[in-house]
Amino acid sequence: MKRIYEPAAYGPQGACFWADTVPPDDWPTLPGPRHTEVAVIGGGFTGLSAALHLAQDGVGVTVLEADHAGYGASGRNGGFCCLGGAKASGASLRRSYGAKGLKDWRATEKAAINTVAGLIEAHGINADSHSEGETLIAHNARAFEKLKAGVEETQTDYGVTPRLIEMEDMAAEGLGGPFFGALTTPLGFALNPRKYHAGLARAAQSAGATLHAHSPVTSLKNNGTWRLQTPHGTLTADRVLLATNGYSSEDLPDWLRGRYLPVQSSVIVTEPLSDARKAAQGWTSHQMAYDTRFLLHYFRLMPDNRFLFGMRGGLTARPGSQAAISRKIRADFTQMFPGWRDVALTHEWAGLVCLMASLTPFAGPVPGHPSLFAGMGYHGNGVAMASHTGMILADLMQGKAPRAPLPEAMRHPPRRFPLGRFRRALLAPAYATASLFDL
Ligand SMILES: Cc1cc2nc3c(=O)[nH]c(=O)nc-3n(C[C@H](O)[C@H](O)[C@H](O)COP(=O)(O)OP(=O)(O)OC[C@H]3O[C@@H](n4cnc5c(N)ncnc54)[C@H](O)[C@@H]3O)c2cc1C
Repeated sequence: MKRIYEPAAYGPQGACFWADTVPPDDWPTLPGPRHTEVAVIGGGFTGLSAALHLAQDGVGVTVLEADHAGYGASGRNGGFCCLGGAKASGASLRRSYGAKGLKDWRATEKAAINTVAGLIEAHGINADSHSEGETLIAHNARAFEKLKAGVEETQTDYGVTPRLIEMEDMAAEGLGGPFFGALTTPLGFALNPRKYHAGLARAAQSAGATLHAHSPVTSLKNNGTWRLQTPHGTLTADRVLLATNGYSSEDLPDWLRGRYLPVQSSVIVTEPLSDARKAAQGWTSHQMAYDTRFLLHYFRLMPDNRFLFGMRGGLTARPGSQAAISRKIRADFTQMFPGWRDVALTHEWAGLVCLMASLTPFAGPVPGHPSLFAGMGYHGNGVAMASHTGMILADLMQGKAPRAPLPEAMRHPPRRFPLGRFRRALLAPAYATASLFDL
């Protein structure tokens, strides 16, 4: 597997809090030669949702996960089941896909949240859900003016009325800090991603899907039928789904080379905060929140009163870079939540999200490769969108019209980034420029 970061970037990257909240639930290794109708490479939300929906339709499906269950971004994210999935602005989506294309994309963002809510309900998954929509917090006065100006756009885009919170009302809302106001959009909720992942896996298995962990696909060939090689067994398949997202390889298959850009995201979690601690900061709300910076922070007080705080990760996974990002995330946390400068951080980890050159996700057939499909590129917002994409792909792979519309913004096969395997170099100037806007 040829990958564009050093191996550490694809490792566990720290101590993930979610791992302490679920019993280890590993799937068996692919034991020898097997055949399946559909092979899914990657056992995150995309792969599991596709497997669940395929199995429910009576299709034989086998998931091959390289590491343990929930290893990738799906098992280590911030748990924001929210709008998003693209990094392209509304204006640029309108330019590229027209007013209808923009409307369809916005409807898909909303539908993706409902897909997760529906899966949780249908399969009785206890994922510690909380938060009524998402709260966007202004990091300066100019940003709050922009939030005000954006209320109408939110109404048009999503058909809901967001609620503005003036700076002087933030404390009464339990959103105390050096903030300039906020906007709550009543869509989305927060969850424990490992509990949701485990529930999705159980549902897929009950529906008849076969899940294998510790079964990295090391080669993928098609000689009339697909042949997936793993260290301990070979799987042949009629159709294959690539669901590897930020953990993708340049050569699995070669088509992927240069078409995705993994980016690290980092998270810290505090010890449970007492009422006195919460009062000291003035933050008592369990709303999931993020700020208006380009290089945004995402944060939430979880049901057990631990505080989760995340932001962009390091440019590399080398020790120096990791130490620098560790210092930076602590500094940002302390600057935004000074009342908690002494709280203990019990967990810190990072993982890979996936950007696309189009700044929109992709779901569909891989050009030039019969019976090969891919779903990827959620730009750090894949809890909802990956789950939804997997469901849509389950239909596309059966040659059926998808049960939820696939917007044009997601249909275009990803184009290559400039700089080939050195494309990570695009990130440093992008971060530097973005941080200037955040001043
Ligand atoms: C720190 C962090 C915080 C985030 N926070 C949020 C959030 O709060 N809200 C949100 O919406 N999104 C968030 N995201 C993004 C979200 O987690 C992802 O978009 C989503 O989980 C992608 O799901 P996936 O199934 O496509 O990919 P992944 O979950 O990354 O799964 C891909 C899997 O493929 C496996 N794989 C790779 N190569 C092979 C191979 N050759 N053979 C077999 N298996 C292979 C990997 O081991 C991995 O498990 C966050 C991501 C990170 C890293």
